[in-house]
Amino acid sequence: MQFQPVFPPHKRPILIAGPCSAETEEQVLTTAHGLKGFQPDLFRAGIWKPRTRPGAFEGIGVPGLAWLRRVKEETGMKTTTEVANAQHVYECLKYGVDVLWIGARTTVNPFSVQEIADALAGTDMPVIVKNPVNPDYKLWVGAIERLYKVGLRRIAAIHRGFSTYGDSKYRNVPRWQMAIDLMEEFPGLEVICDISHICGRRDILAETAQKAYDLNFNGLMVEVHPTPDTAWSDAAQQITPEQFGQMTGALIQRKATSDDPDYQLKIENFRQQIDEFDEEIIHLIAQRMQMVREIGYVKKDKNIAIFQPERWRALADACRRRAEKNELSREFISLFLEAIHQEGINQQEKVMNDGIVTTIAPAGDLWIND
Ligand code: PEP
Ligand code: MN
Repeated sequence: MQFQPVFPPHKRPILIAGPCSAETEEQVLTTAHGLKGFQPDLFRAGIWKPRTRPGAFEGIGVPGLAWLRRVKEETGMKTTTEVANAQHVYECLKYGVDVLWIGARTTVNPFSVQEIADALAGTDMPVIVKNPVNPDYKLWVGAIERLYKVGLRRIAAIHRGFSTYGDSKYRNVPRWQMAIDLMEEFPGLEVICDISHICGRRDILAETAQKAYDLNFNGLMVEVHPTPDTAWSDAAQQITPEQFGQMTGALIQRKATSDDPDYQLKIENFRQQIDEFDEEIIHLIAQRMQMVREIGYVKKDKNIAIFQPERWRALADACRRRAEKNELSREFISLFLEAIHQEGINQQEKVMNDGIVTTIAPAGDLWIND
């Protein structure tokens, strides 16, 4: 796929700012005028709001599109809003919205994405596709492909993190690697980071924005409201236009690399050490799995279940404590333990069920629902 920039000529960083929801004409215009001096590339405001539970503010609907038109007339800023179906698309085209975005709850649904794509066929509308709520890379790419197939070329992506259950620092946990994979697979695709929906809270917005810059994202989407605490949706994560200006002004943009010999030498040295550690880690894990298989034979002999919850809890707690002392994050150690545990179970299953379970041959294409 050959994409064209949504923001020609490949401007960097691209800044998209504005309230979570358009609430009143005054709130929309106050935000826009407050932001104007900081020159965001796009003014955002949700007109139709996909809310998790009914009863919350579900968006102002079509009247808000006239407010966006006023924003453009009065400030010269281009505008963007979220569309979830063909009707939304038609209304946006009628009111001259400049860029559309597809929200996380819509990207998961190929029927909806196709409906939006079909409604846009024959136009040159730029569309930004948020990642789906679940970390399904193919579903994200699939939505982009649906738009591409109807002839759209000005397509970008937004990483807004993924739903999770349980403890997390974030509202939607970022999967940085997935965004990086997207950048690598589609070099011409602009990838933006929606720090507001990742963080869900304003105190960690700046560090997350810096991380996005460090990872070479093309820009940021940030929710901005004149009085964030009174916002009708997503109050905890919104900031004022002044805070937006301060935050983006303080971010450091880094170079891709440097020819400086001192830099090259230091990096080379550290990378060599990292390669050695990686080799050691793989070797240690392989040795650990060897022990896991030995246990499998012993369990098989006495007909003992693979999963021993008490042992696993004690082991995981000890690892977590050790990890904490060594400045490893809770998120990382949880993912690591999960992976180790799963691999251990798989290895023991192989040992214990060898020759017992008759497997049914897989279909030629394993993932027949793709
Ligand atoms: C939004 O941008 O206001 C929004 C609803 O985002 P998401 O689709 O990422 O939840
Ligand atoms: Mn929001």
